[in-house]
Amino acid sequence: MEAVGFLCLVAAVVAWGFLWVWDSWERMRSQEPAGVPGDGSKTLLVIAHPDDEAMFFAPTLLGLARLRHRLSLLCFSAGNYYNQGEMRKKELLQSCDVLGIPRSSIMIIDNRDFPDDPGVQWDTERVAGTLLQHVEANGINLVVTFDAGGVSGHRNHVALYAAVRTLHSEGKLPKGCSVLTLQSVNVLRKYISLLDLPFSLLHTRDVLFVLTSKEVAQAKRAMSCHRSQLLWFRRLYLLFSRYMRINSLHFL
Ligand SMILES: [Zn+2]
Repeated sequence: MEAVGFLCLVAAVVAWGFLWVWDSWERMRSQEPAGVPGDGSKTLLVIAHPDDEAMFFAPTLLGLARLRHRLSLLCFSAGNYYNQGEMRKKELLQSCDVLGIPRSSIMIIDNRDFPDDPGVQWDTERVAGTLLQHVEANGINLVVTFDAGGVSGHRNHVALYAAVRTLHSEGKLPKGCSVLTLQSVNVLRKYISLLDLPFSLLHTRDVLFVLTSKEVAQAKRAMSCHRSQLLWFRRLYLLFSRYMRINSLHFL
């Protein structure tokens, strides 16, 4: 009898947990994220390498497209670590076609100041200067980039956060320009796909984007444009990474 009672208790807790997740998700989907600029806002995604946009930011890009943001992209390198830069630039353009970023709104920086190399520390002032010029020239309302953990810890990702943090804390960004950073999560949460949803609902302070299954297929199509990067472990990444389905972001 005791075992039956215990099983009933477990079932009740699981059912309550499921309903809580469902209810929170439904509420989250029916509301516009607070603090995110509205319809028609000019949003700039800042990445370090071709494929960052699809591997990490697809839920944000597709979520902001739902909110009818005008999306643009600034990529600080051609991803030339293995001398594949030219191919990777083309792959990035194809991926952006799938994710809804017009080619005229894509800028890929390909110079010696910002090499694709985890062993090189990009100069924060130089990154910040380049970014600020781009933001001002294009009237950007919202900048989206990595947080201090850089999702994968890649030093080039972290350099982008350092630059945007500097611009923000020194008050150099134009008035009305907000910054959202993509939350890095621990390795366990990173690879449990949609099972991370309860943790994301609990731990997201500002903005949460969760893709529908149709949008997940779109994100995977974008990722598969990066043919030079589709090694066996990346195929596993497509299956298990939460970043193919969920993005949680914090405002600076
Ligand atoms: Zn990267």
